[in-house]
Amino acid sequence: MAGSFEEAKLCPKCGNAGDVGARRPSDLPGVDVITITCRTATCRWYDTGWLVSINPDGSIPDPTPDGMVRGEKQFDTKKLLVQGVTDDLIVKINRYAEHDDSIREV
Ligand SMILES: [Zn+2]
Repeated sequence: MAGSFEEAKLCPKCGNAGDVGARRPSDLPGVDVITITCRTATCRWYDTGWLVSINPDGSIPDPTPDGMVRGEKQFDTKKLLVQGVTDDLIVKINRYAEHDDSIREV
């Protein structure tokens, strides 16, 4: 069962809806990703983005298996984004994936 975008844009940390950013292609054919950014000032992920992927048919992939955090875990963290990595936010997100979100600032 696929998750909904309304669900996917909720911050994994505070549960509030994030700021929906630009849609861009991922490294999977036909799959786009949208960066969502938390704008809740009290959230530890304030101003931090996560990625939501969109399938070619417009559906959202099943968020995550039980016990896993939604967001960047939709991607294989061993296979970081390699295309179009010119955006600071994407670099930041990859750092979270690599360092298990222990690094707050780039
Ligand atoms: Zn948040």
